[in-house]
Amino acid sequence: PNTNKSPADVPKTTEITSDHTRFANSIYYAEIMRALKRVFRLESFRQNQLEAILAAMDGRDVFVLMPTGGGKSLCYQLPAVCTGGSTKGVTVVISPLLSLMTNQVSALREKNVDVLVWNSETVDHKDIMRRLRGDTKPSLLYVSPEKVKDSGALRSIFGELYRTGELARFVVDEAHCISTWGMIFVKPLRHEYAKVPIMALTATANQIMVDDIKERLKLKNTAFFKQSFNRVNLNYLILDKKAKVLDDIFNFIRTKHYGETGIIYCLGREKCEKVAEQLRKKGLKAKHFHAHMASAEKEQVLMEWQSDRIQIVVATIAFGMGIDKPNVRFVIHHDLPKSLDGYYQETGRAGRDQQPADCVLFYSYRDYKIIVKMINNPRNGEEMSTPEARKRQEEQVRNVMAYCCNVSDCRRVQLLQFFNEKFDRRLCRKFCDNCSHSVDMNQQDLTEESKAIISLAHNIYSSGEKITLDHCRAIFKGADTAAVRERNHNSLPQYGHGKHLDNDLLEQLFKRLCFLEALDEESTLSKGGWYVYYLKVRPSSMAVGFPESHPNLYLKPGRRATEILNAKQRITLFYRPKAPKLPKTASSTSVTTKSGTAKGGGR
Ligand code: ADP
Ligand code: MG
Ligand code: ZN
Repeated sequence: PNTNKSPADVPKTTEITSDHTRFANSIYYAEIMRALKRVFRLESFRQNQLEAILAAMDGRDVFVLMPTGGGKSLCYQLPAVCTGGSTKGVTVVISPLLSLMTNQVSALREKNVDVLVWNSETVDHKDIMRRLRGDTKPSLLYVSPEKVKDSGALRSIFGELYRTGELARFVVDEAHCISTWGMIFVKPLRHEYAKVPIMALTATANQIMVDDIKERLKLKNTAFFKQSFNRVNLNYLILDKKAKVLDDIFNFIRTKHYGETGIIYCLGREKCEKVAEQLRKKGLKAKHFHAHMASAEKEQVLMEWQSDRIQIVVATIAFGMGIDKPNVRFVIHHDLPKSLDGYYQETGRAGRDQQPADCVLFYSYRDYKIIVKMINNPRNGEEMSTPEARKRQEEQVRNVMAYCCNVSDCRRVQLLQFFNEKFDRRLCRKFCDNCSHSVDMNQQDLTEESKAIISLAHNIYSSGEKITLDHCRAIFKGADTAAVRERNHNSLPQYGHGKHLDNDLLEQLFKRLCFLEALDEESTLSKGGWYVYYLKVRPSSMAVGFPESHPNLYLKPGRRATEILNAKQRITLFYRPKAPKLPKTASSTSVTTKSGTAKGGGR
């Protein structure tokens, strides 16, 4: 039923407002409400905003955990323009990203808020110092972490303000970046300005990270606010990645998001360039974005996209942090994300205006295997991670794969569970692929078919013939093609053995067998398989991203072919019989062992 979701079908997302009655007695309440309406021109607070603001005005350390687009900025911007409570003086906002700072500052100036910026682009800091020493101080000062660390001038100003009690608060926005900034500048904040309250804000739901931030900032008696990480207006779709993935992406955009704004994430920079170019050839306004571009070029793309002059940015994960474009209607993952955390952040850039948006992920076992290989075979010049780090990275990709393969549980339940949040499936309101299916899942035992396929692969491989995975599937299906006839493959004992299975299911089964390492592909150009070909023989092409199809890849029995052929374990496929929806049926498989069902990982 979600085939053509018109805005009328999707859940209406109203602002989630707090129950304010218990706060109305607060002495700051009247001033806060006045600032909300007059300065920020907003009607009401979202969940936890007022709570965080009140805690801040009480002079407490505050930790705000809110998904991207949730409205974190207001939590410190509003107290900064108030006069009551613990707000006397300047609120110092430490913000890691230049573009983010610029956006916020210009938005504040539009609201007539007195705000200064001091970062790497500041030419003349004398003016800023004059203002900070003068009688009418700004409400907010935005600074980059580097300045806090390196600028003696800035620190001496901090010292002066501190002694006169005019440092209202330190705000560490995007606080998850602290682990990358290191402790160099952060530690002294609490040491040098012990009495200045600190507010940390992040969209990272990872508990280890949260604890780490609290520890590094030395927060004490912290008022902690955590909001549900469910993004009600995001529709999650997981699709099979096929050789024609680009056509699928193009058709999806053309039919569902014609002329609308979106982001397509790819793994490698050359891949971004290629995909953007191909989309342009198809008539879409797309440009690439990755870390290896000159900053002027990056800013140009960003600006064109922000102002709707281009429709799509095809980017690596370098694109996105701090980007606050409200009307992003789709985020597409062309390649498998490396972690669910990243996937959540990246999809989170869609629908910040609270209107419905689509998040589409194209997944394949081939991507999964390549990422695992990349983790263990760093490219030239890259350092090999420690064994523990590699194990953790592998675990993260496996989680992504398990998420993709799970075609029964609500995507929200799965995703939020990963962030330790229990989610009631009914609240999804059928706004994910798994919930929106009206057709129940089938489970089919395909053990015999699997064994026949493995034998077929053995036969052909040992005869020295080279066939592709697709050709093998055609033989098994009993296709009557010229290639099959010419090579006499219709006389093989397994010919047509799988003709009772429909193509989708068969395709799934072959993928599954690859994932189980019952089947493998190798390149004629290198021994050891296609990924070795890409990693070792043509490492530069690896950066292009994942080869969706390659003419020189031929089928061979996988490492575990014999083992699986002789094992007693059953091979079961979960799939949906022809669900009436436009995005292709997502199906997945599992291996049923005697001890139960092992999903996803399959070992
Ligand atoms: P975050 O930093 O959490 O990603 P922002 O602070 O950038 O989110 O806010 C995201 C968007 O939500 C902004 O466009 C902001 O104006 C809007 N917003 C924030 N609070 C409210 C509110 N109480 N009512 C309506 N819109 C809000
Ligand atoms: Mg923010
Ligand atoms: Zn759901």
